[in-house]
Amino acid sequence: MSDFEHLEAEWAFATQAIRAGQVRTHEQEHSEPIFPTSSFVFSSAAEAAARFSGEQPGSIYSRFTNPTVRTFEQRLARMEGAECCVATASGMSAILATCLGILKTGDHIVSSRSIFGTTTVLFTNFMSRLGIETTFVDLSDLNAWEGAIQKNTRLLFMETPSNPLTELVDIRALADISHKHNCFLVVDNCLATPVLQKPISFGADIVIHSATKYIDGQGRCMGGAVLGTDDVVGTDVYAFLRSAGPTMSAFNAWIFLKGLETLEIRMKAHCDGAMKLALWLEQQPQVARVYYPGLESHPQHELAKSQQTGFGGLISFELKGGKEDSWKLIDATQICSITANLGDTKTTITHPATTTHGRLTAEQRKESGIADSLIRIAVGLEDVEDLKKDLARGM
Ligand SMILES: *Cc1c(COP(=O)(O)O)cnc(C)c1O
Repeated sequence: MSDFEHLEAEWAFATQAIRAGQVRTHEQEHSEPIFPTSSFVFSSAAEAAARFSGEQPGSIYSRFTNPTVRTFEQRLARMEGAECCVATASGMSAILATCLGILKTGDHIVSSRSIFGTTTVLFTNFMSRLGIETTFVDLSDLNAWEGAIQKNTRLLFMETPSNPLTELVDIRALADISHKHNCFLVVDNCLATPVLQKPISFGADIVIHSATKYIDGQGRCMGGAVLGTDDVVGTDVYAFLRSAGPTMSAFNAWIFLKGLETLEIRMKAHCDGAMKLALWLEQQPQVARVYYPGLESHPQHELAKSQQTGFGGLISFELKGGKEDSWKLIDATQICSITANLGDTKTTITHPATTTHGRLTAEQRKESGIADSLIRIAVGLEDVEDLKKDLARGM
C-alpha cells in the first residue's frame, strides 16, 4: 500500500507520474528512498514462516519484491491504467517473462513483422526451440492478423507506431480480433509511452516497456516492465520472473522513478521537436520521403490522431540517393550521436539497412520497406534549429 493509494486513481496523469506509489519511511524523506538490499529480516522464526507461506504480506528477498521497485511498478501501473505491473531487468526480459509466463510448448504467436530486431530473434531462434512457433504478418493488415490465427494461437504481439517506419495499427480493432479467438493482445508501448498512448484503454491485455528508452530518457539504465491484470501479469508472469530472476535492481528502479516524473514534459518536447524537424525535412529537395505520423502525408495520420495524444519522437526519411548519400549525411553530423539507441535527450541517428536491419537479406529488407537510403532519427531535446543545421551539413 502506498501512502495515497485511496486517492491515486482519481489523480490526473501528471500527478500520478510524480506521486503515485510512494511510501515514506519513518525518516519522512521527500524523495523516494532506495533499498539496496538483497534480503529482508524477520523478527522471529514464526514471522519468517508466515512471510514465506504468504500468510503475512511483506518483503522476503529482492528477486521477489523490493520496496523501491514496487514504487516504480505502482507508479507505472497508474500511468498505463493497469491493475498490475512487474518490473524486469530489461525490455527483452519483459518480453521473455511474458512469453514464458503464459505460453507452453505447442502454443503459437502471431506477431507483426515490424518489431524490435532482438524480439524477432527471441521468437524465431529461441521460442521456436521450446516448440512455440511464430507467424509474422504486416502490422496494419487486420485480415492478415485474423488469417494467421490458428487453433493453438495464444498471443498476438505488436508495436505501434513501428520502428523505423512509424506504421500504425488500430489497437481496438486488433484487440477485438484477438479476443474473438481467445488470445492475449500484447502491445510493446516503448515508442509511444503512456503519455501518448494507453493500449489497455483500447482493449489490449498486456503492455510491455523497455524502460531503457523514454522512461529513463537519459540513456543511463537498462530496465523493462510488463503491465496487465493481477491474474495474468501479477500471477503467471510474476511467477516466472521470481523463479527465473531477471528482476529490476533497486538502483535502476530509482532512476526510472525520476524518469517517470518528467516523462510527460519530455515526451511533449520530443513530439514538438520531431514535428518541426519532419516538416522541415519534407521541404528539403534532397529528401524523397519522410515517415512521421504527425505529417498529413502519413497514410495513417487520422488513426494517429485518434489513438495517440502526440506523434512521438521518431522520424525516418529516405534521401533521393542511395546508401553512400545516407552515410555521407550521417558522417557529416556533429551533434547527432551515431548510435542505435533511442528515447534520449540526445538526438540519435541510425542507418537501419546496415545496422538494426543488417542481418536481413536484401529481399527481406525490401519486403519490410527498409530502403538503402533510409535514415532514422530519434529526436532529442536539443535546439531544433541546431539539429536542422546538423542534418543540412551532409545533404
Ligand atoms: C529497446 C527496445 C526493446 C528491448 O529493450 P531492452 O531494454 O534493450 O532490452 C524492446 N522493444 C522496443 C520497441 C525497443 O525499442
